[in-house]
Amino acid sequence: MKGADQCPRCASRRTIDIDAPSPNGFYARVIRGCRNCETIWEPFDPADTIDPDERYASFIEPCNNCAFRPGSPEQGDTAEWKKTMASLKAGGQFYCHKGVPIEPKNENGFAYPADGKNTAKMRLCRGFLNMWGQNMLKQSLEGEVTHA
Ligand code: SF4
Ligand SMILES: [Zn+2]
Repeated sequence: MKGADQCPRCASRRTIDIDAPSPNGFYARVIRGCRNCETIWEPFDPADTIDPDERYASFIEPCNNCAFRPGSPEQGDTAEWKKTMASLKAGGQFYCHKGVPIEPKNENGFAYPADGKNTAKMRLCRGFLNMWGQNMLKQSLEGEVTHA
């Protein structure tokens, strides 16, 4: 996968992996850092995506620090999680943070391309896609029951 072994900011391949547990396990335990521009991000294995040749292909399975898993730090902030769910129900989408520069000063903890507005350069989250699929199925089945 093009770019998977490069820094998401400066494209350097001079990187180092650091074992760095974050508070509440918010970030992945192993973080990759760029020796050139000092950007840090959560690395991933392209083989874990549905198309290893496609740069923004979604993962096959939700990751071990998925926001949608029960008990995630994101869901621990109930008010914020309710807001997230409301925006997703209103048609919003949830994007993956793997390979995105970590930015603790940003509300969501990451520096997405163009402030999250360039969705062509973002990967949809597998946890979100699974939840969306389950909801669609549930709604269809409920519809079938109602119309039966
Ligand atoms: S795909 Fe979703 S669950 Fe996996 S790392 Fe990205 S945001 Fe987290
Ligand atoms: Zn860099």
